[in-house]
Amino acid sequence: MRKKTVVLTRFSSIMQDNISQKTAIDKYINDNRLIVDEWIEEDAVSGFKTRLEDRKGLMIIKDMALNEELDTLIIFNSDRIGRRMEMVGFMSLMTECKVKVISVTEGVLNGGCDTDDLLNSIRFWTAQQESRKTSKRVKNGKLAKIKQDGYAGGTPNYGYRVVDKKLEINEEESKIVIMLFEEYVIGGIPKIIKIIEKNKITKRGEQFNRQKILKLLHNPIYIGKKQYQGELIDMPQLRIVSDELFYKVQDIMQNRRTKGTTKYVNKTDALLESILWHQCEDGEIRKVHVDYVKLKNGDKRPYYRCKHCKDVKAKITKNYNSNKIEPLVINDIKSIMGNTDIETLEKRYNKEINDSIKGINDTIDIIQRNIEKKNKDIEKAIKQIENIILGESNLDIEIVNGLIQKLKDEKQGLEEVLNINIDELNKLKNKTSKAIYLLQKYKNFDDIYDKSNDLEKKNILQELIDKIIISHDKIYIDFNIY
Ligand SMILES: [Zn+2]
Repeated sequence: MRKKTVVLTRFSSIMQDNISQKTAIDKYINDNRLIVDEWIEEDAVSGFKTRLEDRKGLMIIKDMALNEELDTLIIFNSDRIGRRMEMVGFMSLMTECKVKVISVTEGVLNGGCDTDDLLNSIRFWTAQQESRKTSKRVKNGKLAKIKQDGYAGGTPNYGYRVVDKKLEINEEESKIVIMLFEEYVIGGIPKIIKIIEKNKITKRGEQFNRQKILKLLHNPIYIGKKQYQGELIDMPQLRIVSDELFYKVQDIMQNRRTKGTTKYVNKTDALLESILWHQCEDGEIRKVHVDYVKLKNGDKRPYYRCKHCKDVKAKITKNYNSNKIEPLVINDIKSIMGNTDIETLEKRYNKEINDSIKGINDTIDIIQRNIEKKNKDIEKAIKQIENIILGESNLDIEIVNGLIQKLKDEKQGLEEVLNINIDELNKLKNKTSKAIYLLQKYKNFDDIYDKSNDLEKKNILQELIDKIIISHDKIYIDFNIY
């Protein structure tokens, strides 16, 4: 059976509209040599107020589509289908049933390429809460203003000033901004503080403290990217420092913040405090705690005990005499460190890390491409608003505004995921340098260890080792270098 091509017309109460609608459809059909099997006419009801179920014409079309009788649906304009949220469902049903929907004024509505999807979203997406529309409109208006002149009210960032309600670079302040970035690379915050004190530099009369400096050094406005509601807006005219300098500073800050995260624990004088774990009867591993046993000669000796295994009365070894377990562990560590070919380990390690870095970079690429796509969609939608204002489009401006907000929300979601991945990447890079640093530092582990005092020994172990796990017959050592 040949599938049908159907025209849906909806008549309004204005006769002239109906005539021009019919003429336009006729012309389109002739121009495109289409053969129409059926005209379905609906009475004058407003699509905005009528529920989909009450639309008899649409219901007939829906049935035809579901019965696989329909090939093409021709309408005058998408607003003849309706504006309500439910119409999105109608359109997806058409697409699912492989029905091509052609709007005489707008072209094919479900063609499948990105642009069509976008236009469909614009055409069929509508904000559900009327009350939210106003604030969105205000926000959109504000965004447009920021894009135009970078200023949305409030005190301008250090390095800038407001002239004729536009943000521009303040020459005097921008020199200090450049100094802050450059000196940070050389000597960090202490160096900056020295210079500031010596030259009595203030932040518009206020003290330039560490917090303020760090906040400033983080702000992408200095490379011409203005933050606004989780979005970065390109404003190249506001650039004060080069990308190279800016990102160098970000890198250093990242490293300074995470470097030396090893927190040494020294609550007891037990050598393996905080790194010793027990593999319990149930297979789980749990950290052991330290207590002391008084010896006959009055001395106290540390014991490592698993509280869990004690509580459940496990029938495996759960208490370890420090005098016995420590030499075993140290021997193991010495033997591993002595037999570790640093070069091979470094190579293997680098390969693993590089693979992970590559994986994360790929993810970041994909997210960035998606963000880029959202940006383009937002641009297109903004263009639509221009068209509406110019009278070249009869889309509802509220719908387009709603879509822009939706796209922005989606973009913000993507950016959050992106940041998580970037953090992950930085941690990984940091881990690489730490591992190589440790490998080099403890090349001659035996020597260094044996020459150290008790506290130093504890610190060495805590720095080098993540976990030591004692099971019933084995000792596993998790180094921080793998
Ligand atoms: Zn246990």
